[in-house]
Amino acid sequence: MAVNICRILMGAVLVFSGTVKIIDPRGTEYKIQDYAAALGFSNDLPTYMPLALGVALALLEFSLGIYLMFGIRRKWTSRIVLLMMLLFTPWSLYLAITNPVHDCGCFGDAIQLTNWQTFGKNIVLLTVALILWKWHHLGKRLISQHSQWLVALYSWLFGFLLAGYTIYTLPIIDFRPYHIGADLAEQMAWKEDGTVPPISDLMILDTETGQDLTDSIIATPGWKFLLIAPRLEVADDGVMDRLAELTDYCKRNHYLLICLTGSDHDGIMNWCDITGAEYPFCQADETALKTAIRSNPGLILLNGSIIEGKWASSQLPGYKELNAPVEELKWAHQKQETMRQHVIALFSLYVIPLLLLTLLDFIWSLYRKNKNTIHKPLKTNKMRKHIVAGNWKMNKNLQEGVALATELKEMLAAEKPNCDVIIGTPFIHLATVSDLLKDSVIAVSAENCANKASGAYTGEVSAEMVKSTGAEYVILGHSERREYYNETPEILKEKVDLALANGLKVIFCIGESLEQREANEQEAVCKAELAGSVFHLTAEQWKNIVIAYEPIWAIGTGKTATAEQAEEIHAYIRSCVADVYGKEVADETSILYGGSCKGSNAPELFGKEDIDGGLIGGASLKAADFKAIIDAWK
Ligand code: PEP
Repeated sequence: MAVNICRILMGAVLVFSGTVKIIDPRGTEYKIQDYAAALGFSNDLPTYMPLALGVALALLEFSLGIYLMFGIRRKWTSRIVLLMMLLFTPWSLYLAITNPVHDCGCFGDAIQLTNWQTFGKNIVLLTVALILWKWHHLGKRLISQHSQWLVALYSWLFGFLLAGYTIYTLPIIDFRPYHIGADLAEQMAWKEDGTVPPISDLMILDTETGQDLTDSIIATPGWKFLLIAPRLEVADDGVMDRLAELTDYCKRNHYLLICLTGSDHDGIMNWCDITGAEYPFCQADETALKTAIRSNPGLILLNGSIIEGKWASSQLPGYKELNAPVEELKWAHQKQETMRQHVIALFSLYVIPLLLLTLLDFIWSLYRKNKNTIHKPLKTNKMRKHIVAGNWKMNKNLQEGVALATELKEMLAAEKPNCDVIIGTPFIHLATVSDLLKDSVIAVSAENCANKASGAYTGEVSAEMVKSTGAEYVILGHSERREYYNETPEILKEKVDLALANGLKVIFCIGESLEQREANEQEAVCKAELAGSVFHLTAEQWKNIVIAYEPIWAIGTGKTATAEQAEEIHAYIRSCVADVYGKEVADETSILYGGSCKGSNAPELFGKEDIDGGLIGGASLKAADFKAIIDAWK
């Protein structure tokens, strides 16, 4: 629960901060330039770098936020989020102490925090990131593993295209005091109590005399076009024809057109030479102009002191649009509608498709679940158990084993499995792990037991001893024990009898070697192994037997039997059981597949009619890998 609250909190913060940067990448670019200037390396940065970094950071934050919310790639996402917070927290402390820029810009212009507030926020987020990293596996998934790539790809693509669009045009949501509909006179007025107004740094000066013209330009009534060019030296001069058309239009209609720039006299002269500009110029602070409009040059239309419209250089009107007085030009009055439309567009293009995808994925998972159930109809109307059993073999010391069992227990407590789960551990783990898992959905199995009941058999562990640890199962007949410890069918028969007599259930392994498979002897081998060690049992005893078909050539080799190969022999094994115990018992017998089974091939294998789960070696040694196989039953 706590982990999921942290996940949603961190996800929401990242999505928010990523979104405000994506819809205003130029704002992040300017902020990075401010940092570079304050830290004295602005000249070393290639000109494209601040914008590229801004977009990359915005996309990373946005996507990580979405990954967290949907529970996509939980391990890696939590690691990257932690790494980010480990970098940003000391950095924000440094900013708070040295104060090179006043607002760190973490939430763009949407929420402005002081550097100390940002540091405080980062301490909280760092704690949240640590929790997510430690318990990432407890986070809930909103989307299945099969579909998560779609959400991930769509988010990156959407973020990338939106950032491109807003760079080409203007921020689609404007959080600044210069938004459409804002009254500049009001935004610049100092309150009686001395509160700093939202716009406090805009002062329009005559280029020749340095006289303050702010009031006379802003406060005079009528239509005014302000061409804003923070720095003419780097402004887009490809729009000079459009500017010439606008100049003519303003002359014809007696509107004021004035260019506000942060450039000096030489910069202005140079711009006039290049573009043939015939409009007047005034000077203003470059940063204030960058805040006013995210384009160089950009155009603002004022009616008195109210902003009626804003256009990036790529959107400047041409003579076709400038065909009537401003009052009659519909496109010139953008009002707040534009922002509302953009928010609706954001929802329709991103949020709604994503919700639809999640819903479809949910329906698909339900369908698959049902299909699995329908896929295995039993004539007796009974369901045989689906089982995923781990076999740790001779791996993990006691502490490592306890850690692995604990991790798995927490994972399966957070997300209930759709099958029975068993872990087979070495003897030394049995008592501790059984105790640890006693209230969990996981059962414990031994990997062997002696073929003697008790007595002078130094080093052996009896079935009774296994049972006394709390274990419920024992794996017998594994090919490694048959091969390295010479366990014959007769010895195994004794072990099976003792295990059952002591109340243990047996996972009995059978399977052919590569030579036997090449000689097409797999059926004969399996039948003989069953006949040699377990077919003497009564039908009542048989209820405590699970068969594991493990082709020896597939164990630990990375080679898996194809789902068809496995199904063929599983069906054969079931028919052998039916021959001895009847169809009904055979239909209730769980037959597991073992041999390089992984999260990637388990769904196909388990989708087969006669495959009821897996006995897992290598992939049971990591909780996440084992869980991925368990999830194949979802
Ligand atoms: C096993 O030894 O039971 C087994 C199936 O191993 P692996 O999954 O590593 O092939």
